[in-house]
Amino acid sequence: MKNLDTAALHQWFKETSRPFPWRENTTPYRVWISEVMLQQTRASVVIPYFERWMQLFPDLHGLASASLEEVIKAWEGLGYYGRARHLHEGARQIVSQYKGIIPSNREQLEKTKGLGPYMVNAILSFAFHQRAAAVDGNVTRVLARHFLVEDDIARHATKKNIQALADEVLDVKKPWITAEALIELGATLCQSKPLCSFCPLKSTCIASNQNRAEEFPVKSKETQVTILNRSVAVIEENSSLLLRKGIPGKIMADLYEFPYFEGLDHPLPHHIQTLWGLQTTFVCSLPSVRHSFTRYQAHLFPIHLRTNERKMIKDFEWVHFDKIDQLPFSAGHRRVLDHFLQRIDPQMMLF
Ligand code: SF4
Repeated sequence: MKNLDTAALHQWFKETSRPFPWRENTTPYRVWISEVMLQQTRASVVIPYFERWMQLFPDLHGLASASLEEVIKAWEGLGYYGRARHLHEGARQIVSQYKGIIPSNREQLEKTKGLGPYMVNAILSFAFHQRAAAVDGNVTRVLARHFLVEDDIARHATKKNIQALADEVLDVKKPWITAEALIELGATLCQSKPLCSFCPLKSTCIASNQNRAEEFPVKSKETQVTILNRSVAVIEENSSLLLRKGIPGKIMADLYEFPYFEGLDHPLPHHIQTLWGLQTTFVCSLPSVRHSFTRYQAHLFPIHLRTNERKMIKDFEWVHFDKIDQLPFSAGHRRVLDHFLQRIDPQMMLF
Protein backbone atom coordinates (compact mmCIF):
# COMPACT_ATOMS: atom_id res chain seq x y z
CA MET A 1 0.00 0.00 0.00
CA LYS A 2 1.39 3.40 -1.00
CA ASN A 3 1.96 5.78 1.87
CA LEU A 4 0.06 9.04 1.42
CA ASP A 5 -1.58 10.82 4.35
CA THR A 6 -5.17 10.92 3.05
CA ALA A 7 -6.57 11.92 6.46
CA ALA A 8 -4.41 15.06 6.49
CA LEU A 9 -5.27 15.72 2.84
CA HIS A 10 -9.03 15.45 3.49
CA GLN A 11 -8.79 17.71 6.52
CA TRP A 12 -6.84 20.32 4.55
CA PHE A 13 -9.40 20.15 1.71
CA LYS A 14 -12.29 20.54 4.13
CA GLU A 15 -10.71 23.64 5.66
CA THR A 16 -9.32 25.37 2.57
CA SER A 17 -11.08 24.25 -0.61
CA ARG A 18 -12.11 27.18 -2.76
CA PRO A 19 -15.84 27.91 -3.10
CA PHE A 20 -16.77 27.44 -6.77
CA PRO A 21 -20.29 27.44 -8.21
CA TRP A 22 -19.86 23.87 -9.49
CA ARG A 23 -19.06 22.72 -5.96
CA GLU A 24 -22.56 23.78 -4.90
CA ASN A 25 -25.62 21.88 -6.03
CA THR A 26 -23.43 19.20 -7.60
CA THR A 27 -25.15 17.31 -10.42
CA PRO A 28 -23.63 15.09 -13.12
CA TYR A 29 -24.40 17.77 -15.72
CA ARG A 30 -22.75 20.55 -13.70
CA VAL A 31 -19.72 18.35 -13.05
CA TRP A 32 -19.42 17.55 -16.74
CA ILE A 33 -19.64 21.16 -17.92
CA SER A 34 -17.30 22.51 -15.25
CA GLU A 35 -14.69 19.82 -15.79
CA VAL A 36 -14.60 20.39 -19.56
CA MET A 37 -14.22 24.13 -18.98
CA LEU A 38 -11.55 23.57 -16.33
CA GLN A 39 -9.48 21.66 -18.88
CA GLN A 40 -9.24 24.92 -20.82
CA THR A 41 -8.12 27.44 -18.24
CA ARG A 42 -7.84 28.45 -14.58
CA ALA A 43 -10.82 28.06 -12.26
CA SER A 44 -11.15 31.80 -11.63
CA VAL A 45 -11.50 32.40 -15.38
CA VAL A 46 -14.03 29.58 -15.72
CA ILE A 47 -16.50 30.98 -13.13
CA PRO A 48 -18.25 33.58 -15.37
CA TYR A 49 -18.30 31.18 -18.33
CA PHE A 50 -19.84 28.47 -16.16
CA GLU A 51 -22.48 30.76 -14.70
CA ARG A 52 -23.46 32.14 -18.10
CA TRP A 53 -23.57 28.62 -19.55
CA MET A 54 -25.93 27.47 -16.79
CA GLN A 55 -28.24 30.38 -17.53
CA LEU A 56 -28.26 29.58 -21.24
CA PHE A 57 -28.36 25.77 -20.95
CA PRO A 58 -29.46 24.92 -17.39
CA ASP A 59 -29.66 21.19 -18.04
CA LEU A 60 -28.71 18.52 -20.52
CA HIS A 61 -31.98 18.85 -22.46
CA GLY A 62 -31.38 22.59 -22.81
CA LEU A 63 -27.92 21.95 -24.21
CA ALA A 64 -29.07 19.19 -26.56
CA SER A 65 -31.86 21.32 -28.01
CA ALA A 66 -29.63 24.37 -28.60
CA SER A 67 -28.10 24.95 -32.02
CA LEU A 68 -24.39 24.28 -32.49
CA GLU A 69 -23.92 27.96 -33.25
CA GLU A 70 -25.44 28.96 -29.88
CA VAL A 71 -23.17 26.47 -28.10
CA ILE A 72 -20.05 27.68 -29.89
CA LYS A 73 -21.03 31.27 -29.12
CA ALA A 74 -21.36 30.47 -25.39
CA TRP A 75 -17.93 28.84 -25.52
CA GLU A 76 -16.32 31.79 -27.30
CA GLY A 77 -13.09 32.82 -25.58
CA LEU A 78 -12.37 29.46 -23.97
CA GLY A 79 -10.54 28.06 -27.02
CA TYR A 80 -10.32 24.46 -28.33
CA TYR A 81 -13.79 24.65 -29.79
CA GLY A 82 -13.79 20.93 -30.53
CA ARG A 83 -14.63 20.44 -26.86
CA ALA A 84 -17.79 22.57 -27.18
CA ARG A 85 -18.83 20.61 -30.25
CA HIS A 86 -18.24 17.31 -28.42
CA LEU A 87 -20.27 18.54 -25.43
CA HIS A 88 -23.14 19.31 -27.76
CA GLU A 89 -22.89 15.95 -29.54
CA GLY A 90 -22.51 14.12 -26.21
CA ALA A 91 -25.63 15.85 -24.81
CA ARG A 92 -27.65 14.84 -27.88
CA GLN A 93 -26.35 11.27 -27.62
CA ILE A 94 -27.37 11.03 -23.94
CA VAL A 95 -30.83 12.39 -24.73
CA SER A 96 -31.34 9.86 -27.52
CA GLN A 97 -29.74 6.82 -25.81
CA TYR A 98 -30.39 7.40 -22.09
CA LYS A 99 -33.45 9.68 -22.06
CA GLY A 100 -31.30 12.60 -21.00
CA ILE A 101 -29.94 10.95 -17.84
CA ILE A 102 -26.15 10.96 -17.62
CA PRO A 103 -25.16 7.34 -16.93
CA SER A 104 -23.36 6.33 -13.74
CA ASN A 105 -21.85 3.37 -15.55
CA ARG A 106 -18.23 3.53 -16.76
CA GLU A 107 -18.82 1.58 -19.94
CA GLN A 108 -21.71 3.79 -21.05
CA LEU A 109 -19.82 6.97 -20.21
CA GLU A 110 -16.80 5.78 -22.18
CA LYS A 111 -19.00 5.41 -25.26
CA THR A 112 -20.28 8.98 -24.96
CA LYS A 113 -18.91 11.51 -27.41
CA GLY A 114 -16.19 13.72 -25.95
CA LEU A 115 -15.68 11.82 -22.71
CA GLY A 116 -12.07 10.71 -22.38
CA PRO A 117 -10.57 8.89 -19.37
CA TYR A 118 -10.24 12.05 -17.24
CA MET A 119 -13.83 13.16 -17.79
CA VAL A 120 -15.25 9.68 -17.19
CA ASN A 121 -13.39 9.41 -13.90
CA ALA A 122 -14.34 12.96 -12.87
CA ILE A 123 -18.05 12.28 -13.46
CA LEU A 124 -17.95 8.90 -11.70
CA SER A 125 -16.07 10.38 -8.76
CA PHE A 126 -17.50 13.88 -8.20
CA ALA A 127 -21.06 13.25 -9.38
CA PHE A 128 -21.65 9.63 -8.37
CA HIS A 129 -19.10 9.23 -5.55
CA GLN A 130 -17.66 6.10 -7.09
CA ARG A 131 -14.09 4.92 -6.68
CA ALA A 132 -12.39 6.63 -9.63
CA ALA A 133 -9.34 8.91 -9.80
CA ALA A 134 -9.45 11.77 -12.28
CA VAL A 135 -5.82 12.41 -13.21
CA ASP A 136 -5.02 15.77 -14.76
CA GLY A 137 -1.78 17.79 -14.86
CA ASN A 138 -2.27 18.86 -11.22
CA VAL A 139 -2.62 15.33 -9.90
CA THR A 140 0.29 14.18 -12.07
CA ARG A 141 2.54 16.87 -10.58
CA VAL A 142 1.54 16.05 -6.98
CA LEU A 143 1.98 12.29 -7.37
CA ALA A 144 5.19 12.52 -9.42
CA ARG A 145 6.69 14.57 -6.58
CA HIS A 146 5.14 12.67 -3.73
CA PHE A 147 6.28 9.27 -5.02
CA LEU A 148 9.41 10.48 -6.84
CA VAL A 149 8.34 9.28 -10.28
CA GLU A 150 11.52 9.77 -12.31
CA ASP A 151 10.18 8.74 -15.73
CA ASP A 152 9.06 11.17 -18.42
CA ILE A 153 5.36 11.92 -17.82
CA ALA A 154 4.77 12.21 -21.59
CA ARG A 155 5.36 8.43 -21.90
CA HIS A 156 2.34 6.18 -21.99
CA ALA A 157 3.85 3.81 -19.40
CA THR A 158 4.40 6.71 -16.96
CA LYS A 159 0.82 7.91 -17.41
CA LYS A 160 -0.40 4.42 -16.60
CA ASN A 161 1.82 4.33 -13.53
CA ILE A 162 0.51 7.71 -12.29
CA GLN A 163 -3.09 6.57 -12.86
CA ALA A 164 -2.36 3.39 -10.87
CA LEU A 165 -0.86 5.47 -8.03
CA ALA A 166 -3.88 7.77 -8.03
CA ASP A 167 -6.26 4.80 -7.92
CA GLU A 168 -4.31 3.23 -5.09
CA VAL A 169 -4.23 6.26 -2.78
CA LEU A 170 -8.01 6.88 -2.89
CA ASP A 171 -9.59 6.72 0.52
CA VAL A 172 -11.66 3.59 1.18
CA LYS A 173 -14.70 5.43 2.55
CA LYS A 174 -14.63 8.75 0.68
CA PRO A 175 -12.59 8.22 -2.49
CA TRP A 176 -14.17 11.22 -4.23
CA ILE A 177 -12.70 13.56 -1.59
CA THR A 178 -9.16 12.24 -2.18
CA ALA A 179 -9.67 12.60 -5.94
CA GLU A 180 -10.81 16.23 -5.73
CA ALA A 181 -8.33 17.18 -3.00
CA LEU A 182 -5.38 16.01 -5.10
CA ILE A 183 -6.53 18.27 -7.94
CA GLU A 184 -6.99 21.16 -5.50
CA LEU A 185 -3.55 20.60 -4.00
CA GLY A 186 -1.92 20.67 -7.44
CA ALA A 187 -3.82 23.83 -8.37
CA THR A 188 -2.91 25.70 -5.19
CA LEU A 189 0.09 24.59 -3.10
CA CYS A 190 1.84 22.17 -5.43
CA GLN A 191 2.31 24.42 -8.45
CA SER A 192 5.60 24.72 -10.36
CA LYS A 193 7.03 26.53 -7.29
CA PRO A 194 5.61 24.35 -4.51
CA LEU A 195 4.69 25.74 -1.10
CA CYS A 196 5.72 22.60 0.77
CA SER A 197 5.72 24.12 4.23
CA PHE A 198 1.90 24.54 4.04
CA CYS A 199 1.26 21.15 2.45
CA PRO A 200 -0.71 18.44 4.23
CA LEU A 201 1.40 15.77 2.48
CA LYS A 202 4.76 17.17 3.50
CA SER A 203 5.57 14.38 5.94
CA THR A 204 5.21 11.67 3.28
CA CYS A 205 6.29 13.56 0.12
CA ILE A 206 9.57 12.03 -1.05
CA ALA A 207 10.63 14.81 -3.45
CA SER A 208 9.99 17.50 -0.87
CA ASN A 209 11.87 15.62 1.81
CA GLN A 210 14.83 15.30 -0.57
CA ASN A 211 14.57 19.01 -1.46
CA ARG A 212 13.97 18.06 -5.08
CA ALA A 213 10.32 18.97 -5.59
CA GLU A 214 11.00 21.38 -8.46
CA GLU A 215 12.78 18.64 -10.44
CA PHE A 216 9.43 16.88 -10.86
CA PRO A 217 7.48 15.98 -12.90
CA VAL A 218 10.07 14.99 -15.51
CA LYS A 219 8.92 16.23 -18.90
CA SER A 220 10.27 15.81 -22.42
CA LYS A 221 11.01 19.02 -24.28
CA GLU A 222 7.95 21.06 -25.28
CA THR A 223 6.89 20.97 -28.91
CA GLN A 224 8.23 23.97 -30.78
CA VAL A 225 5.80 26.79 -31.45
CA THR A 226 5.37 27.77 -35.12
CA ILE A 227 4.87 31.48 -35.84
CA LEU A 228 2.36 32.39 -38.54
CA ASN A 229 2.32 35.94 -39.94
CA ARG A 230 -1.04 36.72 -41.51
CA SER A 231 -2.40 39.70 -43.43
CA VAL A 232 -6.04 40.18 -42.48
CA ALA A 233 -8.56 42.11 -44.58
CA VAL A 234 -11.49 43.72 -42.73
CA ILE A 235 -13.59 44.56 -45.79
CA GLU A 236 -16.60 46.78 -45.20
CA GLU A 237 -19.49 47.38 -47.54
CA ASN A 238 -22.41 49.56 -46.38
CA SER A 239 -22.29 48.48 -42.69
CA SER A 240 -21.54 44.84 -43.52
CA LEU A 241 -18.29 42.90 -43.22
CA LEU A 242 -17.00 40.03 -45.32
CA LEU A 243 -16.60 36.88 -43.15
CA ARG A 244 -15.98 33.19 -43.57
CA LYS A 245 -17.25 30.44 -41.30
CA GLY A 246 -14.60 27.82 -40.47
CA ILE A 247 -14.98 24.50 -42.25
CA PRO A 248 -16.21 21.57 -40.09
CA GLY A 249 -13.34 19.22 -39.25
CA LYS A 250 -10.70 21.97 -39.49
CA ILE A 251 -9.07 23.81 -36.56
CA MET A 252 -11.40 26.84 -36.60
CA ALA A 253 -14.53 24.86 -37.50
CA ASP A 254 -17.77 26.86 -37.09
CA LEU A 255 -15.94 30.02 -35.99
CA TYR A 256 -16.08 33.17 -38.06
CA GLU A 257 -12.96 34.87 -39.38
CA PHE A 258 -12.07 37.70 -41.72
CA PRO A 259 -10.33 36.88 -44.99
CA TYR A 260 -6.64 36.41 -44.32
CA PHE A 261 -3.55 35.52 -46.31
CA GLU A 262 -0.39 33.82 -45.11
CA GLY A 263 2.65 36.14 -45.08
CA LEU A 264 2.99 39.90 -45.06
CA ASP A 265 4.00 40.58 -48.61
CA HIS A 266 0.45 41.00 -49.95
CA PRO A 267 -0.52 44.54 -50.94
CA LEU A 268 -4.07 43.62 -49.93
CA PRO A 269 -6.26 45.80 -52.19
CA HIS A 270 -4.28 44.62 -55.22
CA HIS A 271 -4.30 40.98 -54.04
CA ILE A 272 -8.07 41.03 -53.42
CA GLN A 273 -8.71 42.62 -56.80
CA THR A 274 -6.64 39.91 -58.51
CA LEU A 275 -8.14 37.04 -56.51
CA TRP A 276 -11.83 38.00 -56.40
CA GLY A 277 -12.17 40.92 -58.77
CA LEU A 278 -13.30 43.04 -55.80
CA GLN A 279 -12.33 46.71 -55.88
CA THR A 280 -11.41 48.01 -52.39
CA THR A 281 -9.83 51.16 -51.01
CA PHE A 282 -7.50 51.35 -48.04
CA VAL A 283 -9.02 53.08 -44.96
CA CYS A 284 -6.50 52.42 -42.17
CA SER A 285 -4.32 49.83 -40.47
CA LEU A 286 -5.72 48.24 -37.31
CA PRO A 287 -3.63 47.15 -34.31
CA SER A 288 -1.89 43.83 -34.74
CA VAL A 289 -3.05 40.87 -32.63
CA ARG A 290 -1.29 37.74 -31.36
CA HIS A 291 -3.25 34.57 -30.98
CA SER A 292 -2.07 31.09 -29.91
CA PHE A 293 -3.76 27.83 -30.81
CA THR A 294 -2.48 24.24 -30.63
CA ARG A 295 1.25 24.59 -31.49
CA TYR A 296 0.90 27.81 -33.48
CA GLN A 297 1.16 31.47 -32.67
CA ALA A 298 -0.57 33.61 -35.28
CA HIS A 299 0.46 37.24 -35.63
CA LEU A 300 -2.46 39.00 -37.30
CA PHE A 301 -1.86 42.27 -39.18
CA PRO A 302 -5.30 43.64 -40.09
CA ILE A 303 -6.21 46.51 -42.36
CA HIS A 304 -9.59 48.13 -42.87
CA LEU A 305 -10.69 48.24 -46.52
CA ARG A 306 -13.89 49.66 -47.97
CA THR A 307 -15.76 48.63 -51.10
CA ASN A 308 -18.91 49.68 -52.93
CA GLU A 309 -19.50 46.25 -54.45
CA ARG A 310 -21.46 43.61 -52.57
CA LYS A 311 -19.91 40.83 -54.56
CA MET A 312 -20.64 37.19 -53.64
CA ILE A 313 -17.40 35.37 -52.96
CA LYS A 314 -17.17 31.59 -52.60
CA ASP A 315 -17.14 30.43 -48.93
CA PHE A 316 -17.67 34.01 -47.65
CA GLU A 317 -20.74 35.96 -46.62
CA TRP A 318 -21.55 39.61 -45.95
CA VAL A 319 -22.74 40.08 -42.37
CA HIS A 320 -24.40 43.30 -41.22
CA PHE A 321 -22.96 45.00 -38.11
CA ASP A 322 -26.17 44.34 -36.13
CA LYS A 323 -25.76 40.56 -36.58
CA ILE A 324 -22.06 40.38 -35.90
CA ASP A 325 -22.17 40.22 -32.11
CA GLN A 326 -24.30 37.07 -32.24
CA LEU A 327 -21.63 35.17 -34.16
CA PRO A 328 -18.85 33.08 -32.61
CA PHE A 329 -15.38 34.23 -33.68
CA SER A 330 -11.96 32.66 -33.25
CA ALA A 331 -10.15 34.45 -30.40
CA GLY A 332 -7.70 36.38 -32.63
CA HIS A 333 -10.32 37.55 -35.12
CA ARG A 334 -12.67 38.55 -32.27
CA ARG A 335 -9.97 40.96 -31.08
CA VAL A 336 -9.52 42.29 -34.63
CA LEU A 337 -13.30 42.86 -34.76
CA ASP A 338 -13.24 44.65 -31.38
CA HIS A 339 -10.45 46.96 -32.60
CA PHE A 340 -12.41 47.64 -35.78
CA LEU A 341 -15.66 48.43 -33.94
CA GLN A 342 -13.84 50.77 -31.55
CA ARG A 343 -12.48 52.77 -34.46
CA ILE A 344 -15.38 53.20 -36.81
CA ASP A 345 -17.63 56.22 -36.77
CA PRO A 346 -20.21 55.75 -33.94
CA GLN A 347 -22.90 56.99 -36.36
CA MET A 348 -22.38 53.83 -38.38
CA MET A 349 -23.38 51.76 -35.36
CA LEU A 350 -26.86 53.37 -35.33
CA PHE A 351 -28.14 50.78 -37.75
S1 SF4 B 1 5.14 18.56 -0.06
FE1 SF4 B 1 5.55 20.04 -1.66
S2 SF4 B 1 6.09 18.86 -3.47
FE2 SF4 B 1 5.12 17.46 -2.01
S3 SF4 B 1 2.99 17.42 -2.62
FE3 SF4 B 1 3.18 18.98 -1.05
S4 SF4 B 1 3.54 20.92 -2.16
FE4 SF4 B 1 3.88 19.21 -3.57
